[in-house]
Parts: sequence; C-alpha cells; structure tokens
Amino acid sequence: MSFKFASLGSGSQGNGLLVSSDEAQVLVDCGFSILETERRLERLHVDAAEIDAVLVTHEHGDHVGGVAGFAKKYSLPVYCTPGTFLASPKLSNLNSVQPIKGYASFKIKNLLIEPYPVPHDAREPSQFTITCAQDKLGILTDCGSITPHMERQLTGCSALFIEFNHDEEMLKRSQYPLTLKERILGRYGHISNSDAVQLLGRIKGPQLQYVVAAHLSKENNDPNLVRSLIAQSLGWNEEHIDIATQELGVDWRIVGAA
Ligand SMILES: [Zn+2]
Ligand SMILES: [Zn+2]
Repeated sequence: MSFKFASLGSGSQGNGLLVSSDEAQVLVDCGFSILETERRLERLHVDAAEIDAVLVTHEHGDHVGGVAGFAKKYSLPVYCTPGTFLASPKLSNLNSVQPIKGYASFKIKNLLIEPYPVPHDAREPSQFTITCAQDKLGILTDCGSITPHMERQLTGCSALFIEFNHDEEMLKRSQYPLTLKERILGRYGHISNSDAVQLLGRIKGPQLQYVVAAHLSKENNDPNLVRSLIAQSLGWNEEHIDIATQELGVDWRIVGAA
C-alpha cells in the first residue's frame, strides 16, 4: 500500500498540500483563490470534486485565505482547532467546520490524521502527521522553535514536508524592518535552515524516503543552499530532496512500497 502527496505551492504568498491514498484525498491549507486552487489542482490531475476534506494549520492568510470559498463550493468539511476557527472570520460562515479536539487523532477514510501543537504567532496553530498503513508523512511549516513533542511526532516518518524558512545571515543582512526580522527570528516566528537541518538530524530514521523543503523565504533563502544542506546532513543524493516552490509547489511523490 502506498499513498502520495503533492504541493500546490508553498511560501508566504499561499500554501496548499494534497495527500492522497486509494480511498481518501485531503487538502492541508488553502491560501489561494478558488480559481487559482482549481488551476493548480488541474496541474496535478486532481478533480476538486474528489477531495474529501480540508485541514487548516492556522489562521494566517497564506494558509486559510482560500479555505472558506473552496470548502463552500465543494461542500467540504474543514478540520481546525477551536482557536484557528475563532481567529478566522471567514470560517465562521461555514457550517462544515469540525473542531480538532485537544489535538486528538482522527481518521478520514484510511488516512490517520494526528494534529500536534507548534509555537507560532497564531492563536492555536496545529501541524499534522498523516499515516496510511505503515507510512507516515510529517508536515511542519510555520513554527518558530521546536518542542520535544514535535520531535516525537515527527520521528519515524517515511516522508517529511518541512519548513526551511530562511538563512539567518541573509535575513539579518536584509532590508526587512527590524520588527519583522525580530518576529521571524523569534520563538514564535519561523525556523531557519540551521534549525530545520538540526531537527532533521534528530528525527531521520531508516524509513525516510523523501524530504521536501517548504515555505522558503523568497528574499532570505537560496534553494540550492537548502538542497545541499539537506543532502549533506542525510548523506543523500540530491534527487531525493525537493524544494516546494511558491509557483509550482512540488509534483506527486509516492510514499511507501508501491
Ligand atoms: Zn505561512
Ligand atoms: Zn504563519
């Protein structure tokens, strides 16, 4: 049994990640307009009408911006924490919101969804691992620091979709206003390349097949640098490492034995 995932796009201008098994298809975050989401789904040969649910990580516009419109159009349930719901005015008009209860795991057909809390400057942000049969996909974007619980949740994954937000030196040298630099570098902002690569070193296991670096800052990061950092840390060839881009995301990756 295998399942697959693909990114519709990743970065501060909009996010969306599709996870698909033989039974279920879920979209994690939707930061694009309905039209743009449909255009990006088409690129991945996905019929929007076949999606079963939307999971939302937190209320920032690049993650929740398109959720209400898309969920309404396709009559989809939306799973998020009560805090994310309360902080997202657009979601309040939906009657299909399913609150995530105390970060307890739940199932959507044969996908096991395990939400977990992360430190980020949102009201009650949650990231997810998604398991199908023996294989687990770890999803982590938008966090300012790493807790022991996050590490535990992300251990044993077959694939990781993980934030490599910025190179710390590039960010410090950038033209960003000081307050924005402080926000990003803070414990509730975004993790740097070196934070992410250190985390990777602690959670990698023998079953890990793919690493996709996500949510890269356009201004303060370099995809080639990220790719070589990951390759070095894992001792891998670069073809098992992907960078999810803002415009193209990342194409389907199959997890587990075919
Ligand atoms: Zn974001
Ligand atoms: Zn965010």
